[in-house]
Amino acid sequence: MQRNMIVIGGGIVGLASALALARAGWQVRLVDADPDRQAASWGNAGHIAIEQVTPLASWATVRSLPRRRFGAGGAVALPAAAWRRWLPFGLRLLGAARPGSFVRGQRALSGLLAGAMPAWQWLADSLDVPDLLQVRGHMIAWHGAAAAAAGRRAWTTAEIGTATFRDATVAELQALPGPSAAGAIRFTNTAQIADLGVLDRALRAALAAAGGTILPGRATLHLAGDEARVLVDGVALADMDQLLVTAGVASGRLLAPLGHHVPIIAERGYHLRASDHDWPADLPPLVFEERAMIVTRYAGCVQVASFVEFADIDTPPDPAKWERLEAHVSALGLPLRPPFTRWMGARPTLPDYLPAIGRSSRASNLLYAFGHQHLGLTLAAVTGDSVVALAEGRAPAIDLAPFGLHRFEA
Ligand SMILES: Cc1cc2nc3c(=O)[nH]c(=O)nc-3n(C[C@H](O)[C@H](O)[C@H](O)COP(=O)(O)OP(=O)(O)OC[C@H]3O[C@@H](n4cnc5c(N)ncnc54)[C@H](O)[C@@H]3O)c2cc1C
Repeated sequence: MQRNMIVIGGGIVGLASALALARAGWQVRLVDADPDRQAASWGNAGHIAIEQVTPLASWATVRSLPRRRFGAGGAVALPAAAWRRWLPFGLRLLGAARPGSFVRGQRALSGLLAGAMPAWQWLADSLDVPDLLQVRGHMIAWHGAAAAAAGRRAWTTAEIGTATFRDATVAELQALPGPSAAGAIRFTNTAQIADLGVLDRALRAALAAAGGTILPGRATLHLAGDEARVLVDGVALADMDQLLVTAGVASGRLLAPLGHHVPIIAERGYHLRASDHDWPADLPPLVFEERAMIVTRYAGCVQVASFVEFADIDTPPDPAKWERLEAHVSALGLPLRPPFTRWMGARPTLPDYLPAIGRSSRASNLLYAFGHQHLGLTLAAVTGDSVVALAEGRAPAIDLAPFGLHRFEA
């Protein structure tokens, strides 16, 4: 029997989930409102970050906030105009940072991240794009001696899940672009996606090959009895058994008419890309930790990314963030030459820094998978696998109970 699934949102989480469902025998229609591929999924740092098992809803984050403010030279921006968004979000974050909640969150995120790399390896192999997933680690470098000592110490004592790292060798240190680093570490089993555009096209082609279709348009939801119904650009879609919401930061807005109150925020990041550069071809993603900046070499460009700006979804980007990135590039003497293309995208973030993956308590035919914060690329493949189990009423390989929306609905 053919089972019909509508997936709403064609970012990395939606595409990976749609493909997993189609390959499991579902007749999938994916609705997406991003023809220009501007979503977070296509502008991120490309890092499969299995080491990030510690939720950012922590006292360490809260304590570090004063020195990490954008105004103090750091990467965190809380725009005054958006206080109605970030203040309630921040209060909920404080609740999630309490010791008991934090430990539960870390356990849950660790479980999901432990499955992330095997799921990606399987997915990447199945896409048949050579070297799409490059498992060659990533590096973190410091320029001040004190920062290097403190940074190294912090990583040595940090929970890093299944990731492993070592000190950078002298040759690796010398090969780093920019001024000579005071210290660096190299993670050995993290990974990067070689090119996000190639990934996007490969996933869409695989979805088509598995019988799925992509419908351009904007979806809205409403309740009919205890089931959700979907309109695309105002036109009802018929013949569906289940629906999956993977609309990134817009998921909260989409689910509101069903009675879900989702405290999601747009945690916006910025990047610059240069196609004219002399970045070393064999260098994995490189984090300049003192500047909270990550540089990734993709197939056709080098990308410099940073910032966490808590804002409304629809407000325009702040050019001061790109100017700061350009200042970092110039201060470090990085081998990137203008013109730089500028981009801003929103991480979909919930106040406890765990994703929302589960079945709706309001609409019996509705599943959701969003809120993957800084880890949407990392967690896309394992989320797709989990969604198939949910759709089929099987127990997922990973305990999804901590990721239910009920945690915000008590
Ligand atoms: C600067 C930066 C660097 C990052 N680096 C990394 C990294 O290195 N590694 C990592 O794992 N993660 C990283 N992330 C986070 C990652 O990019 C996100 O977690 C991830 O992209 C979220 O994917 P998504 O599919 O849930 O959402 P999105 O990418 O936002 O996609 C959502 C899609 O849903 C569509 N949509 C929304 N509403 C509707 C609607 N009503 N109807 C139809 N379609 C709709 C949108 O148009 C969009 O196409 C980074 C993020 C940023 C900003």
